[in-house]
Amino acid sequence: MVGHLRGHGAPPPPAGKFILVRREVDPADLIQLAEHGLAGAVSVAGGASSHAAIIARGLGLPMLAGADPGVLAAAAGHHAILDAAAGELIVDPDPHHPHLAAAARATPGPRAGRAPLEVRTADGEPVTLLCNVASAAETRLGLSGGAAGVGLLRTEIAFTGATGWPSEAGHLARLTPVLGLLAGRPAVVRLLDFSGDKVPPFLGRGQEQGLAALLRAPEALDDQLRAILRAGAETRLAVLVPMVTSLEEVAQVRAALAKAAAEAGAALPQLGIMVEVAATAAAAAGFADAVDFFSIGTNDLASEVLGLDRADPRARPALAADPRVLTLIQNVIQAARPAGVSVSVCGDAAADPLVLPLLLGLGVRMLSVGAARVPQVAGWIAATGTTAAARQAAGILAAGQDQVNR
Ligand code: PEP
Ligand code: MG
Repeated sequence: MVGHLRGHGAPPPPAGKFILVRREVDPADLIQLAEHGLAGAVSVAGGASSHAAIIARGLGLPMLAGADPGVLAAAAGHHAILDAAAGELIVDPDPHHPHLAAAARATPGPRAGRAPLEVRTADGEPVTLLCNVASAAETRLGLSGGAAGVGLLRTEIAFTGATGWPSEAGHLARLTPVLGLLAGRPAVVRLLDFSGDKVPPFLGRGQEQGLAALLRAPEALDDQLRAILRAGAETRLAVLVPMVTSLEEVAQVRAALAKAAAEAGAALPQLGIMVEVAATAAAAAGFADAVDFFSIGTNDLASEVLGLDRADPRARPALAADPRVLTLIQNVIQAARPAGVSVSVCGDAAADPLVLPLLLGLGVRMLSVGAARVPQVAGWIAATGTTAAARQAAGILAAGQDQVNR
C-alpha cells in the first residue's frame, strides 16, 4: 500500500515459487502473478463460486477460499504445503510429510493431456468444447489442452481496479493478446460485467452496476465494441451480453453493435446473451427471436435460484444439479430449439463431474470450461452415454416436480 501511495506500484513478487495468502484474493492478481512463480492461493473471503476461485481453476492453480482468518497470521518466507483438496494450509511442515515426497515425484504445472480433435460422448454425439478465459495465459493453456476456441472471454477481470470506464485503447491493449491467439477460431467476447465481486472503485456503493451501468454510458459501450471488432477481426467473433433481464437491453446492444460494425466496415458478429438471471431463463422463449445464441451462466443462475451469495463458501458449481436450476436450464434448451438458437453452458457447472452428464442428458452440445480443465472434461464427456444421462436428468426433474406438488 505504501508503494502504491508513493507511486511505485505493487512490490515485486517474492523470488521462486510462492503461495499468496490474502483476506480477499483478487482474480486479476492471480493472472498477473501466475507467470511469476505463483503456486497457489488462500483467501479468507469468498468461496468456490467467487471469481478468484474460477480464475484459479482456469489457470490450474490450487486455491483455498473461505479459509479461517487465522491463516493471515502466517509469516512470509516460511515453507508451506497447500492441500486444496483437503482444505489445508500447512505452514513449516514436517520434512517427512508424505505430501513433500509426492510433490517431489510429480511434474510441475497444470494437468497435462489434450482433448481429442473431435470430442464425442460414449455413444458418438459430437460436443463442442471451448474454454473460459480472462488472459492470454489461460487462452494458451486452453488451446494446448484441445479447446476449439474461447466460449467466454471475461473482459471485466482486467479492469476490476479501474478508476473510470476503459478507453478503446485500454480495451485493445487487453483484447489483442487474447484474440490474437484465436485466428479462425470461435471467440465469444463478453461485454464488461462489473457486477458482484467484480465492481471497480469508480462504480462504488449506491451506484448502478453491471449491464445497467454500461448501457447508461453509451460511449463506454461504443469504445468496447469498436475494440472488440478490431482485435477480433481474424476470429469467428461473437459478442455476449451479461446479466440480461430485458429485450430493451438486447435491442440497445444490437443497435450499438450494428453501428460500430458499419463504421468499422466489419462483418456483423453474432450476438448472444448470458442466461443467468432466473426470470430470463424462465422467459427464454421471449428472448429466442432477439438473439443468435444463449450462453447459460450456472454460477449466477444457481446462486439466485438457491438464494446463496456467490461469495458464500457454500456456493459451488455442483449446486446446478438442483432440480429448480435444472428445470430452468431445460426451459432454455426447449425455447432455443424451434428458434434455431444455439445453446452453450459456460458456468462452472459445465466442468463439474456431477452436473456435466445432466447437461448432456438435457441436450447441451456446447460447453465452455476453465482452460486448465479442458482435457479432463473431454474425458468425462467421452465416458458419458447420452441415453443414460437423459434418464438421470429426467429422474431429477421428476423428483423436483414431486416436491413442488407435495
Ligand atoms: C456465470 O454466472 O455462470 C458466468 C459464467 O458468469 P460469471 O461467473 O463471470 O459471473
Ligand atoms: Mg455471471
